[in-house]
Amino acid sequence: MVTKKFSDVSIDEQLAFIESFDTVMCDVDGVIWDMVKLIDGSTEGINALRSLGKKLYFVTNNSTSHIDLFLERLKVIGVKKEEVIRPGNSLIWYLKKMNFQKEVYVIGFETLKDELRKAGFKVVSDELVPIDETVAGVAEMIKNINPNVSAIVVDMSVNLTYNQLQKCVEYIKRNNAQFLTGSWDDLIPFLNFKLIGPALFSKIIQQVTQVNPKILSKPGKEFQEVLEDNIGPYDPKRVLFIGDSIHTDMVFATNCGFQKLLPLTGLTSEEDIKNWKWEKKIEPDYYVDNLKIFSEILHFSEKRNNKL
Ligand SMILES: [Mg+2]
Repeated sequence: MVTKKFSDVSIDEQLAFIESFDTVMCDVDGVIWDMVKLIDGSTEGINALRSLGKKLYFVTNNSTSHIDLFLERLKVIGVKKEEVIRPGNSLIWYLKKMNFQKEVYVIGFETLKDELRKAGFKVVSDELVPIDETVAGVAEMIKNINPNVSAIVVDMSVNLTYNQLQKCVEYIKRNNAQFLTGSWDDLIPFLNFKLIGPALFSKIIQQVTQVNPKILSKPGKEFQEVLEDNIGPYDPKRVLFIGDSIHTDMVFATNCGFQKLLPLTGLTSEEDIKNWKWEKKIEPDYYVDNLKIFSEILHFSEKRNNKL
């Protein structure tokens, strides 16, 4: 299959596609928001999907901003708290399911740590103190391990240190701590840059410990359970997943049996789509320049209905 550009197919095919789903799960970064402002066409597109009667959820791997700030940024498209699913929700869901009582060591933003604390978990923080670059300094770092830590969480951090990565390794090896991740992104689009994503931090720990993490974000299989638990039962064939990342969004949507749409507003280019070099099964059903096309379809169907 060669993925078709949605604007190039006939209006009948576009309308049939719109009819084929009731629920839309939409990624945020690179689809609606570019880390600084709303992406062109996203407001019109999301509002049109609501007018077309679709149930919307915003499924993001980004836990770096406080939920209130997150909602404020997306106020113009009327996003409600209960429509948002982030790694914070899924980590809390998992730890509660495990009846987790011990301490959790978190590599992540303070916002994520606060979410976990508010949910009643004991989060271990460490001060960002440089390690003495001597044998004694390194030995002290390794020795200084909290015996009560029974889970580690790795998410986005811009203050990551060698000490933190080594601590995670030691918690897994010596305390048999569970290895959990928030975001599983190798790259994070930011302005015109691509930032190193937290999946690469986790992959270092994975390589050293030979322990695979439980991925509590897209594309983790545990994350599917989080969705079902938060949203309730749904028919996967009648869900459209919209996302810009092949490795997280398209893989996750394929594993869930969702329909897939990829906008070219984030990590993936039209060239990537045309010269597809990943597994065939994860190809999107369609791609779009941006989400504005849904407002054009809404106008068309409104006009057509008025004529009938
Ligand atoms: Mg994205």
